[in-house]
Amino acid sequence: MTRETLAETLEDIALLLELKGENPFKIRAYRSGADTVLQFPGDIVARAREGDLNGIKGIGEALRQKLHELAATGTLEFHEKLKAEFPPGLFELFRIQGLGPKKIKALYETLQVDSVARLKEVCASGEVATLAGFGKKTAEKLLEAIAFREANAERFRLGDVVAPVEEILASLKEHPDCLRAEVAGSYRRAKETVHDVDFLVATGQPEKIIEHFVSHPRVTGVIAQGPTKASVHLADGLQCDLRAVANDEFACALAYFTGSKEHNVAMRGLALSRGYTLNEYRLAPREGSDSPEAPVFEDEAQLHRFLGLDIIAPELRENTGEIEAAASGELPRLLELENLRGTFHNHTIASDGRNTLEEMAEAARELGLQYLGIADHSKSSFQANGLDEKRLRQQIAEIREWNLCCRDEGGGFRLFAGSEVDILKDGSLDFDDELLGELDYVVASVHNVMNLPEAEMTARIIQAATHPRVTMLGHLTGRLLLEREPYPVDVPAVIEACAASGTVIELNCNPWRLDMDWRWWKYAVERGVKCAINPDAHRTTQLDYLWFGVRLARKGWLTRADVINTLDLAGMEEFLGLPPLT
Ligand SMILES: [Zn+2]
Ligand SMILES: [Zn+2]
Repeated sequence: MTRETLAETLEDIALLLELKGENPFKIRAYRSGADTVLQFPGDIVARAREGDLNGIKGIGEALRQKLHELAATGTLEFHEKLKAEFPPGLFELFRIQGLGPKKIKALYETLQVDSVARLKEVCASGEVATLAGFGKKTAEKLLEAIAFREANAERFRLGDVVAPVEEILASLKEHPDCLRAEVAGSYRRAKETVHDVDFLVATGQPEKIIEHFVSHPRVTGVIAQGPTKASVHLADGLQCDLRAVANDEFACALAYFTGSKEHNVAMRGLALSRGYTLNEYRLAPREGSDSPEAPVFEDEAQLHRFLGLDIIAPELRENTGEIEAAASGELPRLLELENLRGTFHNHTIASDGRNTLEEMAEAARELGLQYLGIADHSKSSFQANGLDEKRLRQQIAEIREWNLCCRDEGGGFRLFAGSEVDILKDGSLDFDDELLGELDYVVASVHNVMNLPEAEMTARIIQAATHPRVTMLGHLTGRLLLEREPYPVDVPAVIEACAASGTVIELNCNPWRLDMDWRWWKYAVERGVKCAINPDAHRTTQLDYLWFGVRLARKGWLTRADVINTLDLAGMEEFLGLPPLT
C-alpha cells in the first residue's frame, strides 16, 4: 500500500460517484481527500493503517474510516461494491476527449455503451445522434477522438513513466552485481512521449541482473527472458527492455541504445570516414584500413572525443545538426535545472488550482526560487472558475500584501501578480487595458473556440500576442499529448510576430502539454524570441514540472541566455519594468 494507491482509490471513488450522479459536494470531498493524501508531509500510510488520521484538515470522518480500512486490509468494501455496479470497460470511456461522466452515464443507460468498441459502433451507426445532448457533429468528433487514441495506443507521456522508470533504475543500481546502469532510448533523449523504455546495465553477472529485473514489483508480465536481455510489461502496459553488457562495452552500448536511429546512422558514417566501424558494442578499425585499435571507452564522452566531437547531450541526438556543431566546437551550453530562478504561469484556488496563494509561494520558496508568478484564469474561462475584474483586483492586493510581509521576514522572494488572460475568439483580450496595466505581467492563452481555420486562428493569436500589455504567449498550440491534437496554427508566423513585438513564448512544461514543441525552439531563438519555462502548476507539487521544462528546453537547444526564468529577482524586476520592493 502506497500513498499513491490511497489517493488513486479516492479519485476512483469520486469518478464512480459521478457516474452514479451523486451529490457534487460528496464527490469533491473524495477529490480533495486524494490531494490531501498526496501532499501530507508525514507518513500518511502508516497513520492510516493505525487509524490515526484525526485532525488532518481535508479528511473528514467518512474518509478517515475508509482510508483506515484500505491501509489496514489492502481493500475497501465500499469501493469494491461501487465498482461492481459498472462494467470495467466503462472506465476507458473517460479517456476519450469530449466525454464526461454525464455523457458516459447517458450512453451506458440508453445505448448500453460499456466499452470504446461499443461506442464506435453507436457513433458509426448514427444511434448516438438520437440521444439528447448528442448530435451528428458529436458522433463525428467522438469517432475522431477514438481514432486519435487508437493511433497513440502504444505511446506514453514522458511524465507518466518517470516514476516507475526511476524506481526500476534505482533498484537495478542497488543490485550488488550492477556496475553501472542507465536508461537509454527516447526517455534519455527526453522525447515528449515514449513507446518503450530501454534499460542498460554493465555487469559480470548478467543472469542475476535479468532475474532481479523481471522480478521487480512493478513488473506485471514477462514478454521474453534470455541470458543477457529481457522484455517486460508494467501494469499500465508500458514495455521495458533490459540489456546487460560487459563494463567495457557499456559506453558504446549506451550511445547505441540511446539513439536516435537517425543520429546513430550519422555517427556510423562519421566513424567510417575516420576508418572505423561503430556498433552497439565497440568501435573497431574498418576492415582493410590501417587505423590503429580504438581504446576501451570509459564513457560516451571519450567515444565522442575519439571521433573528434565535443560531448553531445542525449537530448540533442536527433540528427538535427548536433554532430556538425560538435565537430566544430559550436554546441550550445545547454540550460540546467539549477539555472532557474523563478517561474510565471501558476494557478491557485482562486481559479482551478488546488492550493492557496500562500501555499504556492511557500512551495516555490522551498524549491529555492526567488520569484513566483501567479496567473489564474480570467473571467471567460468560467469552467475553470476564472476571476472577474473585482476578484482579480482583490488578488493583486493580496499579492502586494504578501510581498510586504515576506520582505519584512527577510525578503529575497517575490510574488508577481499576473493573469492567464483568455484570448477571445476575435483576438481581443478578456480584460481591458487599464486592468492589464495594473498587473506585473500577462500570459495570454487560447482556451476555447479551438476549431477556427488556420489563417483565422493564426491572426487571432498574433493579435493577442502582440498586444502591448501581453508579456508572454501561453501553450501556443493547445495540444494535450496523446489526448488532443494541436489546433491548426501557423507556428512560424506566430514566432515571427512575437520576435517583432518582443513577446516571450512559453514552454508550458505540464507533461500533458510540453508546448511550444521542442522542434520549434531553435528557430524561435534564431529569430530572437525568448522562452519562459512555466509549469502551469495547479497545485504545489506540480512546480516539479520544471524538471520536464528543462529537459525539453535542452532538447530545443536552449541555453541559459535564451530563457528568462534564469534572471535573478533584480534582473526579472528590471525585465518586467517593476521597481524593487522597498
Ligand atoms: Zn491555460
Ligand atoms: Zn494555466
